Amino acid sequence: MSIGAQPEQAEFMDNWSRVRGRLRAEFGDATFNSWLKPLNLASVSGERTLITVPTRFMRDWVVNHYYDRIRELWLAECPKARRVDIVVRATDRPLAGMRPGADAGRREPPAEDAKAKPAEPKDRRQEDDEPLLDISAPLDSRFTFDDFVVGKPNELAYAAARRVAESDRVSFNPLFLYGGVGLGKTHLMHAIAWHLRGRNPDRKVVYMSAEKFMYQFVRAVRFKDTMAFKQRFRSVDVLLIDDVQFIAGKDSTQEEFFHTFNALVDQNRQIVISADRSPSDLDGIEERIRSRLGWGLVADLHPTDYELRLGILQTKAETSGADRVPRRVLEFLAHRITSNVRELEGALNRVLAYHNLVGRPITLETTQEVLQDLLRANDRRVTIEEIQKRVAAHYNIRLSDMHSARRARAVARPRQVAMYLAKQLTSRSLPEIGRKFGGRDHTTVMHAVKRVEELRETDSGFAEDIDLLRRLLES
Ligand code: ADP
Ligand code: MG
Repeated sequence: MSIGAQPEQAEFMDNWSRVRGRLRAEFGDATFNSWLKPLNLASVSGERTLITVPTRFMRDWVVNHYYDRIRELWLAECPKARRVDIVVRATDRPLAGMRPGADAGRREPPAEDAKAKPAEPKDRRQEDDEPLLDISAPLDSRFTFDDFVVGKPNELAYAAARRVAESDRVSFNPLFLYGGVGLGKTHLMHAIAWHLRGRNPDRKVVYMSAEKFMYQFVRAVRFKDTMAFKQRFRSVDVLLIDDVQFIAGKDSTQEEFFHTFNALVDQNRQIVISADRSPSDLDGIEERIRSRLGWGLVADLHPTDYELRLGILQTKAETSGADRVPRRVLEFLAHRITSNVRELEGALNRVLAYHNLVGRPITLETTQEVLQDLLRANDRRVTIEEIQKRVAAHYNIRLSDMHSARRARAVARPRQVAMYLAKQLTSRSLPEIGRKFGGRDHTTVMHAVKRVEELRETDSGFAEDIDLLRRLLES
């Protein structure tokens, strides 16, 4: 089938434009224009097809979201093709006006490109463009707004993040997001960056950890390159710095960070900062910096609540195609893994992995078995005494009735509720729980748990009561 080079080229270009047409039809104009239009068919040689994109973040995004489809469509056009590679090459882009040189070591491996188009001289502009792209850390393709589940604990942070991502004016500067480990700070920052880049690929959006910022700064100092360092940062449109608590105590980094920060604010550029605590609690960071960080909007991510955890699990279970996870198991996980979302995800993944490996259906029992260690570590700090107190107050009975032998429904039912919650929220065994309720037998506790479960099914008012109590105890 070897025909002359020219006609073959033309044929490839036809094939390619059909693929592009399909992509546009399937993904819509907006997506196509932002992400797929810039793709360029660079070469077809033997089994290998090379497609180029102008920037690394586009490559990452395209590969993560559209690669399979692109490949499929291309193979349909060119059955001879086996391999489809998407690589970065900035040839189609106008000059980004960045400082030339620097950082040759961390550029995209050039070998691939060189092989594909040996005749083409290396484009000078690519070298100009790379350093800026380089200072931004790669973004995780799963961390988008669409994948972020919103609930009471994170709604303010989410709304603020969206505002920053969607508006062209600087709304509040900086946006300061803070909260404990694994509550979604990094996720939101990536989501902002994705969104901004999606809307306008020419915006210079730089995301990095404060640690990386420090590392780059220290390096610049060592190589007497601080002017360039400053220059690079100060031409950024939107700067997102993650985990800023990291520069606490590092005086010179702090100083440089502050200068960069001020320079960007003066030029009306948007800044987003995250930390594990509020600006005023950032010990080891100079007072004037701390107070400056609090000038914009400070939004905190609260610890998750049950609803949010369940929502996240449902979303994750759906997206990973795991509709085989029974709702009871999801509920169980949402109750028991309360530390943070990362652990919650980890727990779900473990259950799924087990299921895939062993091939047995997922049940509450296997879940408990697989997650034993995690469950122990997540054991609630809530005590049986607290449960008894809270339940007694709720049903307006005396605390002593939790231990008494009285069997009147008015006290027996709340007592059963308390036993049920003790079983659900603590890791105490049935006999231990029994002892705490006036030395009752473990079968009594078992009966209570069963009874409450039955009532929950049939009486929605009762079920709401239980959920309310549980939330109160968990918070
Ligand atoms: P942080 O930076 O606050 O320590 P991350 O943003 O890294 O936390 O989040 C930890 C994990 O939990 C990530 O995989 C993230 O996608 C997930 N996650 C956190 N909050 C949510 C949420 N509200 N919806 C979906 N996933 C979430
Ligand atoms: Mg983080």
